[in-house]
Amino acid sequence: MDKLQEHLRRLFGFDDFRGAQREIIESLLDGDDVLGIMTTGAGKSLCYQLPALIVPGVTLVISPLIALMQDQVDQLHRRGILEATYINSALPASEVRNRMEGMRQGGYKIVYIAPERLRSQEFLRLLQEIPLSLLVVDEAHCISEWGHDFRTDYLQIGAVREKIGQVPVLALTATATREVQEDILIHLRMQDCQQYVTGFDRPNLTICFQREDTREDKYREALAFLRKQRGAGIIYTPSRNECEEVTRFLQRALADDQIAFYHAGLYPEERKLVQDGFMQGRIRIVVATNAFGMGIDKPDIRFVLHLHVPSSVEGYYQEAGRAGRDGKPALCMTIYNEQDRAIHHFFMKREFPTEQELDRACELMRYGIGPDGLFRNSWREMIRHFGLDDDKLSLLMHQWERSGCVELIDFTGDAVTARVDWERMQGRRSEILHSIERLKLRRFGKLNRVVELLRSPLCRREGILHYFGEPLRKRPHLCCDVCNPELKLNPTLIDATLAELDWQQILADLLPPERLDPSLSAHVSLSMTEGEEAFRVGEQKKLAELPRLYELLQSPSVTTRRMACSAIGKIGAGESAPYLLPMLSDHNPQVRQYALKALEKIGDRRCVPALLALLRREEKEYNIRQARQMLIAWGEGQY
Ligand code: ADP
Repeated sequence: MDKLQEHLRRLFGFDDFRGAQREIIESLLDGDDVLGIMTTGAGKSLCYQLPALIVPGVTLVISPLIALMQDQVDQLHRRGILEATYINSALPASEVRNRMEGMRQGGYKIVYIAPERLRSQEFLRLLQEIPLSLLVVDEAHCISEWGHDFRTDYLQIGAVREKIGQVPVLALTATATREVQEDILIHLRMQDCQQYVTGFDRPNLTICFQREDTREDKYREALAFLRKQRGAGIIYTPSRNECEEVTRFLQRALADDQIAFYHAGLYPEERKLVQDGFMQGRIRIVVATNAFGMGIDKPDIRFVLHLHVPSSVEGYYQEAGRAGRDGKPALCMTIYNEQDRAIHHFFMKREFPTEQELDRACELMRYGIGPDGLFRNSWREMIRHFGLDDDKLSLLMHQWERSGCVELIDFTGDAVTARVDWERMQGRRSEILHSIERLKLRRFGKLNRVVELLRSPLCRREGILHYFGEPLRKRPHLCCDVCNPELKLNPTLIDATLAELDWQQILADLLPPERLDPSLSAHVSLSMTEGEEAFRVGEQKKLAELPRLYELLQSPSVTTRRMACSAIGKIGAGESAPYLLPMLSDHNPQVRQYALKALEKIGDRRCVPALLALLRREEKEYNIRQARQMLIAWGEGQY
């Protein structure tokens, strides 16, 4: 056994290095810069944690998520490695000072920071004073505008690297296309580095994509899929609302209280509760937005289900890759509906500052310039005054800095000091707008690549690997739904299951008797009946149920109203038209969409004036298209 292996055993209790770990560590110990691209679960952290502990000086790890760094430090503490800490904005200023003092005194070997800390002059001075052993950039794809997770603060790192002198840099990521890899090398000034790309393929993952025509179909298929899953899993949904909605639906439909949801709108304590519950096996399935998962080191996740069109291939693969970290077979299932794409368009558009927002911010910057020519403000105040969120303001600042309009002098804690060249800011307005537009297009381009991948008739694994510039070396036995058509769910089987769907019976069968206390079953059946009832009635096409469906049109739940519209459409009785017409004014555009479709199925021309009125209003493009189609089909002229 050599020295490195001894350290591995002593410090981490592992027998051997995995993959490229040893090579990466040896290169770093030789003083080389290293770019390490390793799949999720390959053991990236050890590549810097081990050298950090055996060489003199402090290893600085730049990590994008507060939760991630806390997690890593907790793990190290549990291993008895107490010389690890983190510094981020969640800590009170006094604690930040204590920890910085600790660094000065040599009390820490590994310090995790968020990239924005590098804007603080005080922190930079400290870095110049103390001996640094290694600079680690975790999730390094965040540095590239081509990356799916571009973070402007990451761009500071290159300049900081020059200030702190000769320290080896380790850049790590699980997902980086060739373009992103090149960007990382350029920004971090690491042209002569060693590169270890251990490959993107995860042979134990089986990848399936399944397209559904409607949202109902999507959920029905998801339910059929989930009924067959026994192990732990994550379900990814596109929005916080849908995340909660899907959870409630599944809790009822599967009668499973081991399902919980997780999104960035929860309080940190709530998020921790869900995450801990999942890690410890009390929660079997987490329904989440993309806020969940980074740093989740649970080896036995048996499935990841995407219930939407992911917004980038990298993002998809990172999320799907959380399954099967133990190397045992796991299933990555995507059940989607093409309309899912619209939700990303909606969110993506809101991610970027608009022209008006840029102008307003410019104007306010001008008023913030003091008699000494410097702009001083608190970041929080800027967010409030400018009416922008943190990401949009960071993006604008970055654009201004890049085009020489703003020179950031200091950004410590919350206090921003900058030199602002307002004339230049005016002059560069259209250049900045273009650059924002370019970023937006790239985001949309990434979404289109996902859609291409989903629609492609070729092997899923090959498609994904091709995206990352890697050939498929060996096709695993259970590859994907294209290579293994036997994996496709049998549609007749699902229909049969649905026809028999008796929710009360399912509850009675699945819940152990002692759990069927009256309050619980009353609660479950009450909340369950609405959406599901509408759906079931629609499937059975029972005329006698129409009055109940009319009632459900008044439900506060968007899903229920939508399902009730759809069910009424399926029953197709002319008498329902007057009940559907008011739904064309529902505040939710999707309910209006379902009402339109139902009216189309019923084919009652009494709705022509309502359709004409809808065309005169401000309305979603898809509803306008639908209304026009209906009018044309009914011979009501050209619209
Ligand atoms: P990722 O590459 O996703 O960041 P991690 O660094 O979180 O992966 O490591 C994944 C898991 O593998 C962790 O539980 C870690 O302790 C374990 N691990 C890392 N290296 C080894 C090794 N050489 N032998 C055994 N387990 C290891």
